[in-house]
Amino acid sequence: MSYDIEKPDEQWRAELSPNEYAVLRQAATEPAFTGEYTDTTAKGVYSCRACGAELFTSETKFASHCGWPSFFDPKDTDAVELIEDRSHGMVRTEVRCARCGSHLGHVFAGEGYATPTDQRYCINSISLRLEPEAG
Ligand SMILES: [Zn+2]
Repeated sequence: MSYDIEKPDEQWRAELSPNEYAVLRQAATEPAFTGEYTDTTAKGVYSCRACGAELFTSETKFASHCGWPSFFDPKDTDAVELIEDRSHGMVRTEVRCARCGSHLGHVFAGEGYATPTDQRYCINSISLRLEPEAG
């Protein structure tokens, strides 16, 4: 599919740090429990670090203890794109930014978390930027 924001690979490479590029554009995963937002409870909106689209809010972030920021729902259903991912010998659902196609993480369902959706959007901190709520 095509995205509202598309840039040549060398431009993404120039705009993002090497670690951001590896996750956002090459679907790498940051090591568990290392991301800056893993345990963050501040109120605010989490935007795509590649394009700035608003993706998640602190309202749906929950403590999954899995090592990555976890949300039970995106800010808007169409803010993210879900794609079947058969890499690494598993069938998972990849989560991408719907505006620029950057890799965010994966979504898992039916794990038994006490959330309204029973879904866990397991998102790399480095794919996000938290805009804290004013005041
Ligand atoms: Zn984006």
